[in-house]
Amino acid sequence: MSQIQSASSAMGNVKVVTTKDGEEFAEVQEGLAKILIPPPAKETTQKGAKAVEEQQKVFYNPIQQFNRDLTVLAIKAYGEGVVAQRQATMAKRTKRKRDKSDTDNGRSKKQHTSSSNLEGDAIPGASIEAVNGEDTDMDGLKTAQLSTTENDTAKPNDVDAGPTAAPAQDHQAPGNRDTREEIKPTEAGHERKLSPPRFTILDALSATGLRALRYAQELPFVTSVTANDLTPSAVEAIKRNAEYNGVESKVVAIQGDARAHMYSRLTEEVFREHENPRQPRKGGPQASNKYDVIDLDPYGTAATFFDAALNAVRDDGGLLCVTCTDSGVWASHGYSEKAYALYGGIPVKGFHSHEAGLRLIIHGLASTAARQGLAIEPLLSLSIDYYVRVFVKVRKSPASVKFLAGKTMIVYSCDQGCGAYETQLLLRNKKVSNKSGKGVMYKHGLAMAPTVDQNCKHCGSKMHLSGPMYAGRLHSTDFIKKILDDLPNVSKDVYGTMPRIEGMLQTALEEFLPPPADQLGSIKDDDLAALEPYPFFFHPTVLAGAMHCVCPDEESFRSALRGLGYQVTRSHCKPGSIKTDAPWSVIWHVMREWVRQKQPVKVENISKNSPAYTLLRLGEKSDAEQNSNSEQNSDNNKQAIKHDDEVDKLEVVFNKSLGRDNSKRGLVRYQTNPRENWGPLSKASG
Ligand SMILES: [Zn+2]
Repeated sequence: MSQIQSASSAMGNVKVVTTKDGEEFAEVQEGLAKILIPPPAKETTQKGAKAVEEQQKVFYNPIQQFNRDLTVLAIKAYGEGVVAQRQATMAKRTKRKRDKSDTDNGRSKKQHTSSSNLEGDAIPGASIEAVNGEDTDMDGLKTAQLSTTENDTAKPNDVDAGPTAAPAQDHQAPGNRDTREEIKPTEAGHERKLSPPRFTILDALSATGLRALRYAQELPFVTSVTANDLTPSAVEAIKRNAEYNGVESKVVAIQGDARAHMYSRLTEEVFREHENPRQPRKGGPQASNKYDVIDLDPYGTAATFFDAALNAVRDDGGLLCVTCTDSGVWASHGYSEKAYALYGGIPVKGFHSHEAGLRLIIHGLASTAARQGLAIEPLLSLSIDYYVRVFVKVRKSPASVKFLAGKTMIVYSCDQGCGAYETQLLLRNKKVSNKSGKGVMYKHGLAMAPTVDQNCKHCGSKMHLSGPMYAGRLHSTDFIKKILDDLPNVSKDVYGTMPRIEGMLQTALEEFLPPPADQLGSIKDDDLAALEPYPFFFHPTVLAGAMHCVCPDEESFRSALRGLGYQVTRSHCKPGSIKTDAPWSVIWHVMREWVRQKQPVKVENISKNSPAYTLLRLGEKSDAEQNSNSEQNSDNNKQAIKHDDEVDKLEVVFNKSLGRDNSKRGLVRYQTNPRENWGPLSKASG
């Protein structure tokens, strides 16, 4: 803290800190990090706290705390597993080397090294670093000594234990288990002390560095965080803030284009492979000098960074965290052509547009990754307020990429009529018995088309096309459970948005409706082929609007569907949303029964050309009479709606108590009263 004076004063509600150069800053605390931002103007502070917050949010946006809290906890859930695995591998290898060294006792070093090389699985670059024990990586970060006592040739995963930033301080979040415990297998004459496994994060668009600071302070297993920003003033701010928090040895601030930095990690790898043609990459995942986690949190779209980030994150299961705030592009029809350019698909218009937006963005990521033989697995995909936040795992696996087309769909929407939709996959991942008849396997075949007519089969309106977009699962159940299970261990004081995190994750966990089980035995590839067959929610108010009737209450509506044997849940995206495996023909039958049994409509108010007229089947009897009289049918431009007689016979019962969800009461599932002036910010200029 050489530059920062400890003396501080108060200006309004803001704590003001003065540097040795006489510069004044306002201190903002979030999580365990404190950031210094330019102080509010004096005339603003006189107007009160709201005016100060408004002026300061270019530098600090409190609304985004939810995103940051969530991301810290998500990286914690991800990283603890990764680090534990690496520690186990390191311990095993240490033991193996010790045993080997006992056997080899008396043989020369040269013989020992060459025998290791015969295994042929060394990464030369990593090996050099490990042998030298000390190295300076590309960020100019001085790395710690690997304190093994022998010049062993490193194996691929040794890169984990290799270049490691010396942890500055043990900032441990309350309740955090310290995963950085060192492994010290001790035995007479063989004392070793292994460095903690390398775990690196890139905060690619860092601004004030708040995210990077929080990762460095709140995640003890993180060995280095690189905070990048394009502007010199931001990099200066990151350095100042890192120093103010005492994590300057763990946070590396760099200035430049995030894409150029990320591609430089790819360049390193390509050169290393080029220089060592005897050890070509076999196509599978491997350890490397790439980042364990890359966080893309731009203002607007992150799509322009997708390719670079996918190339700079480890391809043996690295984690990408992506924010896109341009909901005007991916969740409306205002800029469909731009959405296609950025994400490779056309958005959906309607109540579920944000859920479709998530699928568009994942499609953008997945198709970009596929070109490099990388497969992504969405761990958690959330629509939050006006933006989305997606966490995906990246793995080199050309075999997994083959499943992508069969997990990509186009969507036909009755977006100007009743709101019904149908989906169509681009290919089919079909499970078949193999030739011997003893096992099952997947084949990737063509899909039947089209799945709908030009006009909606429920209301007769025109259908519109959206997509292609991702049709697979949005979340990993295990991953969400891991974050939820850890919540009792973390402090509510540090993670101020925890109630909402818990509510949203619990809702996300419950939103998946399992498809019917297939007849063939389950195999490993089932996870790769898994679809979300009921991809979108709807809202009863939208149905009631289309039908010109009073809206059924949630409980009654749910009870009717459950009574018919269908599953009903909700989406994390919107309060009041309904996700169900009931087909649209059943949903409209339930709505007709609602009108018939509970809330009759004034038929005379419904225009013959409206979707409601067709949905309520108002014209059918008179049309039939008109047709028999050979008179012109006013609706003959619409195709005749065929009815499903089986569905029409279903007995619908509205019983509020059956539709009530008593479990998990008190959860904050949805944000009810967002703060004032919430919304996306303009790009920071300072
Ligand atoms: Zn329709």
